[in-house]
Amino acid sequence: METFEEHYAGLQEALRKYAPGTDMAIIDQAVEYANAKHKYQKRKDGSPYIIHPLAVAQIVTEMGLDSDAVLGALLHDCIEDTDASHEEIARLFGDTVAELVEGVTKLTRANFSTSEQAQMENLRKMFMAMSKDIRVVLIKIADRLHNMRTMQYQSPEKQISKCRETMDIYAPLAHRLGMQRIKWELEDLSLRYLAPERHNEIMSYLKEHEEQDEAFMRTIQNKITDRLTRMGIQATVYGRIKHVYSIYRKMQSQGKTLDELYDLYAFRVIVDSIPDCYNVLGHIHDLFNLVPGRFKDYISTPKPNMYQSLHTTVIGSQGIPFEVQIRTWEMHETAEYGIAAHWKYKQGTGAGSEKDFEWVRRLLESQQDSDAEEYVQSLKIDMFDDEVFVFTPKGRIVSLPSGSTPIDFAYAIHSGVGNAMVGAKVNNRIANIDTTLTNGDIVEILTSKNAKGPSRDWLTICKSNQARTKIKQWFKKEKREENVVHGRASFESEMKRMGLPMSAITDPALEPHLLKKLSFDNWEDMYAAIGYGGLTAVKAVGRIRDDVTKSVKAEKTPVPLKLNPDGEAVKQNRHAVNGVIVEDIDSCMIKFARCCTPVPGDAIVGFITKGFGVSIHRVDCPNAQNRTDPKQAARWVRVRWANQDDHPFDTTLELDCITRDGLLLDVATTMTAAHVRVKELVGKDLPGGKSMFTVRFEVKDVAELDFIRNKLMNIRDVIGSRRGQN
Ligand code: MN
Repeated sequence: METFEEHYAGLQEALRKYAPGTDMAIIDQAVEYANAKHKYQKRKDGSPYIIHPLAVAQIVTEMGLDSDAVLGALLHDCIEDTDASHEEIARLFGDTVAELVEGVTKLTRANFSTSEQAQMENLRKMFMAMSKDIRVVLIKIADRLHNMRTMQYQSPEKQISKCRETMDIYAPLAHRLGMQRIKWELEDLSLRYLAPERHNEIMSYLKEHEEQDEAFMRTIQNKITDRLTRMGIQATVYGRIKHVYSIYRKMQSQGKTLDELYDLYAFRVIVDSIPDCYNVLGHIHDLFNLVPGRFKDYISTPKPNMYQSLHTTVIGSQGIPFEVQIRTWEMHETAEYGIAAHWKYKQGTGAGSEKDFEWVRRLLESQQDSDAEEYVQSLKIDMFDDEVFVFTPKGRIVSLPSGSTPIDFAYAIHSGVGNAMVGAKVNNRIANIDTTLTNGDIVEILTSKNAKGPSRDWLTICKSNQARTKIKQWFKKEKREENVVHGRASFESEMKRMGLPMSAITDPALEPHLLKKLSFDNWEDMYAAIGYGGLTAVKAVGRIRDDVTKSVKAEKTPVPLKLNPDGEAVKQNRHAVNGVIVEDIDSCMIKFARCCTPVPGDAIVGFITKGFGVSIHRVDCPNAQNRTDPKQAARWVRVRWANQDDHPFDTTLELDCITRDGLLLDVATTMTAAHVRVKELVGKDLPGGKSMFTVRFEVKDVAELDFIRNKLMNIRDVIGSRRGQN
């Protein structure tokens, strides 16, 4: 059993060595505090719990982190396991320490184990994203390292799950952060539980060959040292056997037995300067036979995780190949401690952790794997702020745009879940559905068969396009009638706001054109679309605004009747006959003059005929030009169109054309396509290759007439048109 004293002494020694300026009083206070808090807890092996935080603090110290991080490590399990609170820790040890502890606690609570390989990358991303301060990650890695070192006391199930998690999350992270030593140790410890037979095989092989290996390494080491000493190069040289997991991986990937394995040995030469690195390289190549194609210069081209060294593989006199890594002390520190080493160098500059975090982010962003062998397990960690990672109650991880709410979460799970949502729990507490989710939250959606479905407000609350699209789909499908009402209301109010008359959109001359512009078959569909949010009223009106404005102006252009320039309003109780109201005459026969075939919308006047009631002419009809003639004036009456759209009127158009075969057919087709009832269509040839068509047909009003006239004018070889006069 390990003792408190041993570990405490270990920490103090590490502090003296790596952080000599540390205020020991505050460290003692934290140890005392943590010890008091954890006093009713024991480690699985029966030793006092405080040993664990002490050991973690020692690892953190050895990484080269600052005293806040060491305090954070000492207190890292206090919030999770004891009655200690953030406030209390902040009061006693400062806000930074409290936040570090809080950060570690969040990572501890999150479940990073999953059987889904596909989730791995998200997990690692979340791990990084949750750790607002890189020191949190480092403390958590140290925590895991100590737990791995003492894994023998855990149940077999726990061993397996923790080791998997270590291989999936912690070792790759350590690698990414450049902490090779910790990565190796985590891998070797995991292998022991994940593949115990292979691990034992390798261990016993190494044990068996220990003496032999050591003798070999001593020989090589001496040979190199002798040469460098003679040349006056200050260097530290040592040999090592590659770590167990990397041997295991070589066996797996190359399908070889231990005896067949190539280069198990690696030597390091650590010197004071970069020029010395290259000098040493020359001497190594002079002393041994180099294996071609294995030289790598990571000094001039550092690895993405900052690693720098010269690598070369050579063969010694006994025919055994080995790798030599040549680097400076600074490169060595970086290689061993990675990000932490960098952190240590920066400490003196007083750089804030925020900036450090930026630095890590840039480091991770810039990483592009180039060295396939080293980077087999490479992973990409995005620490972009635009993603948030949360869990389902079953531990599945869901990635959402940052700022997302339970609504987004629900629709990310399934549209059925979103549509049946009646509430949500975040971290087991009832939460508002507009709660902003944070990394690591466990989100549960409460659903009901009787749910009324999403509310329109959700469209503005949710952050993800996925949710928005699905909510819109629901409205589109489920609530058509309601959508039409909502949509019409907002469309009408927007039309009003823009000063456009609603009547314009049902104007037959305009309607098909407007609907085409809006890409709808009818207005109800468009209202429905506005209602469910597929289209905004502002956009819809914006698209047709110009056309409506133009047509409204055009309608106003015809001069009002000369005979009733500004006359009093026609009495409302007049009866319309054939769609025309004759002023001052309540009920009379009406007929439309054959000469000018007026249609609703035309400015018209009435002529009291002898015995045939009132004949209606267009104001511009030549036969109506004698209105001012005193002899006739009394027979001309003011008339106007009643608002009866359903009554069709005959009208005639004359088309001037250039004669061509098929033109008649074109005209007929155009009329049919416009759904016009044609009553007469005749053509006659004129001199000079010209011809004239006369078309008599039914229209509702002048707007429709103009619409058809336009269509006809668009026919090739139709060069002019006029209203029929005969
Ligand atoms: Mn712990």
